[in-house]
Amino acid sequence: MRILTALGFAVALASTLPLAAHAKHQAKDSTAPKIHRVEKVAENVYCIFGQGGNIGLIVTANHAILIDDQFERLVPGLVEAVRSVTPKPIKYLINTHGHGDHVGGNVVLEKQVMAIVAHANVRKAMIKEQTKLDPAKRGGLPELALGSEDAKERARLDIHLDGTDLHLLHLGPGHTDGDIIVGLPAAPVLHMGDLFFLGMLPYIDAEGGGSFDGLAAQIASVASWIPDATRIIPGHGPVCGKPELLRYRDLLLAVQAHVKANPAKDAAAMAASFDTAAWPEWKPRPDFVTWETLFSVASGKGPGRITRP
Ligand SMILES: [Zn+2]
Repeated sequence: MRILTALGFAVALASTLPLAAHAKHQAKDSTAPKIHRVEKVAENVYCIFGQGGNIGLIVTANHAILIDDQFERLVPGLVEAVRSVTPKPIKYLINTHGHGDHVGGNVVLEKQVMAIVAHANVRKAMIKEQTKLDPAKRGGLPELALGSEDAKERARLDIHLDGTDLHLLHLGPGHTDGDIIVGLPAAPVLHMGDLFFLGMLPYIDAEGGGSFDGLAAQIASVASWIPDATRIIPGHGPVCGKPELLRYRDLLLAVQAHVKANPAKDAAAMAASFDTAAWPEWKPRPDFVTWETLFSVASGKGPGRITRP
């Protein structure tokens, strides 16, 4: 009996916890500055800007689909931003890749969505990353995985929800070993995750299985087949279109050609002799990706970013 009572108490307590947590968040939210901004990209497609990777929101007849979710602590504000667009339940959460500023909210949102979808290597990387965490803080792993551990293997998953068609494409190693592009041909819109940086130099996570040459090849491929009217949500930077993607392709090809033309130079010398002023849309960040770290990873030598000791 004591066990049953204790169990009953535990169940009652557990059932009140989400409400209590919700009330706490609400109280906090009323004073917290609003960091999320929603921008309409196309009919029933939105981009939500906050801190971290850009979030895609697709609204179908009866559901919503979220693409990436930034950080755990920002989920209440993110949900509020989604609710400013639609009251429909979020059925699927798609992760474009496994970096923390794209999957950090998974651990909270997994309780609200039917399934989290990502490349198989995202699940693998998250499991490895979570071994460092207290078991109580683990969770939010993708349940539906496409592709295999071999990042070079192309993979595709089509989602058909309430008459809306989505294509999830993995084209090979690029920003990481588990990137996917989400395409909505009817819009037409692409969410490219961190395969596409605009405003700042691209980060290629070499330690996470990324590949500069793979990225350049993917961008050239995508740029060759998307319709001219395609709206593009980059992983970081403003919503844009095909002209910006073509410029990005040209930047990557120019970097690649400069590496090939200067086999004896180190990354610093290559950066110094490259016409960086010709690419004002991509700014270096001294604490993250510089022209030197970009040339370093493009020549197959560096991690793709500034590393701290
Ligand atoms: Zn990333």
